[in-house]
Amino acid sequence: MTKKGDMLYAWTNDAEIKKHAELGGAVTALWKFALESKAVDGVLVITKGTDLYDAQPVLVTDPKELANTAGSLHCGTLLLPKLVKKYLDGAANMKIGVTVKGCDAMAFYELAKRKQINLDNVIMIGVNCGGSVSPVLARRMIADKFGVDPNVVHKEEIDKGQFIIEYEGGHKGISIDELEEAGYGRRSNCRRCKMKIPRQADLACGNWGVIGPKAGKATFIEVCSEKGAALVAGAEKAGAIATEAPNPKGLEIRGKVEGAMLKLGDKWRKKDFESLGEGKERLKKIMEETSRCIKCYSCILACPICYCVECTTKNPVYVKPGELPPDFMFHLIRYAHIADSCVNCGQCEELCPSEIPNALFMHAQQVELEKMFGHVPGLDMELPLHAFVEEKAERARLANTGSDMIYENVFSPVPKK
Ligand code: FAD
Ligand code: SF4
Ligand code: SF4
Ligand code: SF4
Ligand code: SF4
Repeated sequence: MTKKGDMLYAWTNDAEIKKHAELGGAVTALWKFALESKAVDGVLVITKGTDLYDAQPVLVTDPKELANTAGSLHCGTLLLPKLVKKYLDGAANMKIGVTVKGCDAMAFYELAKRKQINLDNVIMIGVNCGGSVSPVLARRMIADKFGVDPNVVHKEEIDKGQFIIEYEGGHKGISIDELEEAGYGRRSNCRRCKMKIPRQADLACGNWGVIGPKAGKATFIEVCSEKGAALVAGAEKAGAIATEAPNPKGLEIRGKVEGAMLKLGDKWRKKDFESLGEGKERLKKIMEETSRCIKCYSCILACPICYCVECTTKNPVYVKPGELPPDFMFHLIRYAHIADSCVNCGQCEELCPSEIPNALFMHAQQVELEKMFGHVPGLDMELPLHAFVEEKAERARLANTGSDMIYENVFSPVPKK
């Protein structure tokens, strides 16, 4: 019987899913089984829109439509949890299955601990994630570095450290390291990301560790919860997937690849954070960069932590209306509200029309807070630092003493870990 902690190779028995799948098609086969067996009412997944640079979210309720959603879109930089909160009532009354990258899984937890999503009604199948590529940059990269018209590319994949494209008349691969040296490749938040195998999901699925005859034909599954175990066991019993024990050498390789990816994440964090300088120098840099802001609110709309009905940045007491760029307070409000919980998903940077590296600024601050308090956002249901601040008491203290050290009570005594 499948149980939490199990690792296995799995593949679909459905010919149509097999045709579209990235590897063994286990993810899509599991969703099909979940819909057919009514374990979920709908499945929220990513599917190809106009072309491979156009990843679209889709809620599937008819199992027959799932095969079209199989396959990995590496230019799919969307984040799904906020869509569940905004358009699916936070899964309050509907059981939803969602394929998640690490950043999606982290954002689900942050929204759930704020009671914006009911995780009891969500099944998450996680996909390992080496990183995603911004669609705009991908087009430019394919034209400049590959010398290929991005419009004739019909398939892309990331394999053995290379970004590989297939197009009319051939295929070509270039190492990600080389692309990133040239300023292309994965999004900068993805380079710093250390959520490579999303174990907060019910299952974590991927390519790493599948070797031997099953290489490229099976999906590696790590079972991360009892809910995930029940889904795999049910699908196998119903004949939707087949499984076998993983190759022990494959297990070892998977561990090593994950370790290497985490080290790479540390390397990029060091490089990116050092580029910001420290103290006043960092502040000056952030103020300079954010002076390009046109107050379009995209960063707020996209951020999974920002969901307030009345956003403080719209309060004229803090940010004078009708001025561009907005007062720096606009950004300070976000840093103060989000930095303890930022999951480095990159949305606020990806969607900024002024190309302000918002995610870098916020992530750099989150990591400083993590060093101070040991709180890692998005890992589990542990409450964020702000939850330890009692607003009424803080306001009274501010009024009585004039001290604006709002974290005073949090610093001493050091909060629970
Ligand atoms: P399929 O049955 O083909 O189903 C794939 C599922 O992924 C579908 O539900 C689809 O909607 C969803 N999906 C496609 N694109 C996205 C996206 N951009 N965001 C969210 N969901 C998406 N595995 C590794 O072992 N190492 C890696 O470095 C790695 N990098 C990845 C990077 C990205 C951006 C993505 C999306 C996946 C990555 N994977 C990686 C996972 C791997 O590509 C497969 O998704 C996984 O092994 C499942 O294979 P499958 O055949 O069972 O999936
Ligand atoms: Fe993948 Fe991490 Fe980038 Fe999300 S932030 S797309 S999990 S590498
Ligand atoms: Fe300003 Fe960019 Fe945010 Fe728009 S997305 S409000 S331009 S920082
Ligand atoms: Fe994602 Fe930016 Fe919000 Fe951080 S601040 S969680 S990177 S959108
Ligand atoms: Fe809420 Fe602050 Fe985000 Fe505005 S900036 S939506 S007030 S968390």
